[in-house]
Amino acid sequence: QLADPRAAKIPRYVRVNALKTSLDDALADLNARGFSQGDTAEGKKFVQDPHVPNLLAFDAARTEMSSDPAYLRGELILQDKASCFPALVLNPPAHADANVIDATAAPGNKTTHLAALMQNRGTLFAFERDKRRFKTLETMLARAGASNVRAQNADFLSVDPHDATYARVSHILLDPSCSGSGIVNRLDYLLDDAAEEQEEERDERLEKLAAFQQSMIAHAMKFPSVSRIVYSTCSVHAAENERVVRAALLASSGAWVLAPRDQVLPTWERRGVQDELGDVGDAANLVRCMPGEDATNGFFVSCFERAPATGQSAI
Ligand code: SAM
Repeated sequence: QLADPRAAKIPRYVRVNALKTSLDDALADLNARGFSQGDTAEGKKFVQDPHVPNLLAFDAARTEMSSDPAYLRGELILQDKASCFPALVLNPPAHADANVIDATAAPGNKTTHLAALMQNRGTLFAFERDKRRFKTLETMLARAGASNVRAQNADFLSVDPHDATYARVSHILLDPSCSGSGIVNRLDYLLDDAAEEQEEERDERLEKLAAFQQSMIAHAMKFPSVSRIVYSTCSVHAAENERVVRAALLASSGAWVLAPRDQVLPTWERRGVQDELGDVGDAANLVRCMPGEDATNGFFVSCFERAPATGQSAI
């Protein structure tokens, strides 16, 4: 039972896993089992998402996917729409020498998405600090057929950016722990903003999370060959979103800038909040999702890219 009325407005999203099947084959399989494409996700009708390739939206109230045979074969991955944005925005390379990091990987939805975009080529280093969640990650990687992933049960902050192993890493996805305040359709996240939590307590909690999130971005920025970092949260709080991005840009002293809107889901309407980002960049380069309004959970995506060299000494 879902306590939040906004949850009813979110379809059951399913990503077709290109590592195991093609979109055409997945659609044929669904059709053979009585599903059909329609204009709305209702009953046995599903919709192809306009923003995320390979994403299908089903009727959440009437579609139980966790026992679906295609899901059990790893051909379908249950992943909310907004949670597909970070890997798309990171746009990882897909060649034999590609080196990419997923810094906070479990349960592995975005890791398997990255592996699919990389067509299982190159190496995707995936870190997960928590032992139990790491096991879930391993199960998910195996089920999805993500064979280019080197998963490690390790704290990303303890990974040495100057270790030769990571010398060629060009892209990092950073989706760290957050308050989860944007998630309205999962009971394990409904603890955020609990009525009994005082404003003061909440602010303190958000402050701690923001300091951790900033340290993760600062660490990612230290990898010498990295040119692109996507930072995302499933929070609706500016304290974990625009304000963290602002602090990260200021701390980088001009070495990093925000990737322009045309590389960051340009057709998605809801963008960042300029007042919260301030004068360090254009909030139109950021993506936000609002639960109940955007047919997905609350979410935030930002993309940092290394500032072009000025011809003078490196900043
Ligand atoms: N990206 C995942 C996905 O799409 O399936 C969800 C990631 S979840 C929001 C954040 C994860 O980061 C948690 O599993 C948490 O245990 C892990 N984590 C937090 N701090 C970490 C750190 N310093 N190093 C590695 N993993 C960390």
